[in-house]
Amino acid sequence: MTGPDLSALKPALPNIKNHGREALREEFKRAGLPAYRADQVMAWVYVRGVEDIDAMTDLPLDLRKRLAATWAVRALDLVDLQTSEDGTRKLVLETADHELLEAVLIPEERRNTLCVSTQVGCPLACSFCATGKLGLRRNLTVAEIVDQWARARAILSEDESITNVVFMGMGEPLLNLAAVKESIQIFSEPRTLGMAPRRITVSTSGVVPQIRPLLEIGPINLAISLHATTDEVRDELVPLNKRFPLEVLLGTLRQEELVSRKRPVFFEYTLMEGINDSLEDARRLSPLLEGIASKVNLIPMNSHDGSVYRAPKAAVCDAFAAEVHASGLRVTLRRNRGRDIDAACGQLAARTTSGQGHSSQPRSG
Ligand code: SF4
Repeated sequence: MTGPDLSALKPALPNIKNHGREALREEFKRAGLPAYRADQVMAWVYVRGVEDIDAMTDLPLDLRKRLAATWAVRALDLVDLQTSEDGTRKLVLETADHELLEAVLIPEERRNTLCVSTQVGCPLACSFCATGKLGLRRNLTVAEIVDQWARARAILSEDESITNVVFMGMGEPLLNLAAVKESIQIFSEPRTLGMAPRRITVSTSGVVPQIRPLLEIGPINLAISLHATTDEVRDELVPLNKRFPLEVLLGTLRQEELVSRKRPVFFEYTLMEGINDSLEDARRLSPLLEGIASKVNLIPMNSHDGSVYRAPKAAVCDAFAAEVHASGLRVTLRRNRGRDIDAACGQLAARTTSGQGHSSQPRSG
């Protein structure tokens, strides 16, 4: 895939996809247009997947001309698409200012999950993560988050759709909270995409002050990148733990208003050989998570170039999962998806098959 015409992104213009319904209606009213015109445009963009304003035929011709001259609809170009043996597809996407990011489409039996990025790079420098090695280049805009959905939908066949969205790609979503919340509004807006909040999951490494403001948006799922059962190990793997240690993070999740949401918290736990894969770790999980409705997802480490961490042997992963299960917690041992195309958790570092992009950066993997 070569030669995207980035001028089509119209970076100098405001972007339709930067606005949820209410905000776009306000923008249209400010421009002297009836608010229902914003609803019409959103229906074209999100329901019919039409991004060419000239093709929005229920708008008067002069209005189409005016909107096309003053608004952009796209924010990203697809510059590379890689398909894994297991059907997982990784989209490498380019912004108008030539930053690269990735989104991953994961097909499962009855659903298609899209994993979206929220930042180019990430400032949190988790020691096992390829994205963290890039550092933070910048936050993504709402339009750049939502356009990951549009670009992914464009590669699906007519009878496929995106059923779930997880904010687990490049970046820490809670460090770009306003854009994440506005994107969730757009994904869940009944007149456009209408995705049920329970089909949307936001993952955090534990930016404690932003957890409650995030959850004010509604009954979405929260996932915590836990990865360790002691502060000593977690300080090493997730340096943010030094600011918000386990007791603070888990204490926040135990607070009444969060417990009363009646939605389980997903705890992501990457199993790393000799680091956090002992049976003592497995036994520590249940008392650690007491008082929180929890689901534990175990993910064997995806090793990448430059990484000192390795996945434990399959028997060790199985024994760990069995011990967690025996302690009464709900637990899943995940298969790695998209590992052969570096699309698995912790592997995203935005490089194309042709080696374009952050080629001086460490390869994700
Ligand atoms: S694991 Fe998540 S929070 Fe940590 S460096 Fe990677 S992208 Fe950032």
